[in-house]
Amino acid sequence: MGEDPPLPGVSGQVQGARPPHAAHEAIYRAYVEALTRDERIVVLRKGESRFCRLIDKALRVLTLGKQDRFLTSYTTTLGRRIYVPDDWDRYPAGERYLVLRHEAVHVRQFRRLTWPGMVLVYLFLPVPMGFAAGRAWLEWEGYRETLVATWQLEGRAAARSPALENHIAERFSGADYAWMWVAEGMVRRAIARTLRSLEKAPPPPLEWPAAGVAEGSVARVRPSSTSG
Ligand SMILES: [Zn+2]
Repeated sequence: MGEDPPLPGVSGQVQGARPPHAAHEAIYRAYVEALTRDERIVVLRKGESRFCRLIDKALRVLTLGKQDRFLTSYTTTLGRRIYVPDDWDRYPAGERYLVLRHEAVHVRQFRRLTWPGMVLVYLFLPVPMGFAAGRAWLEWEGYRETLVATWQLEGRAAARSPALENHIAERFSGADYAWMWVAEGMVRRAIARTLRSLEKAPPPPLEWPAAGVAEGSVARVRPSSTSG
């Protein structure tokens, strides 16, 4: 549930004078801290989870071997646990932040739908593949948040980039989520609609916490309220 591939890359540009990487790292750390404190979210390495290894096997069978990077490249959310790849710390901080913004949406979905509801909707309703509307709906909520978060972290141009649109659209129609919505044009239109609404009401850019201190300034890094 909520197994998500890496994003197409983050430029590392944040408004202001501080080095982008340091700013992104501070924003990431403050966000993790806020999620841990306010929503009791736990970020764990995938290799530590037997359940993740089981899902890996199931996905290989369901996708005829095409999905074989579940443990190494994907982030998976189960309940309030977010399982990240073992080499998570090597990902750029901006990308880690954007991935967690998306995964936090799945944590809230688990809360809303409960575990059995989430399994049912994500995997089986109304069909497991092709036009898996349940999974496509839950992932769309996540990717809409990805668009908002990208806009906030990297600005309007990054959120509107064709690379991001292609990345999202292809996730819906390809093997990553077992072909959850093969009508890719619908996904592209949904992205365009979201971007139009962000043009009308742009989300506030992120401010990073005070230099060297993530603690105590997390309130300044707020997730968007447009998710869910
Ligand atoms: Zn997702």
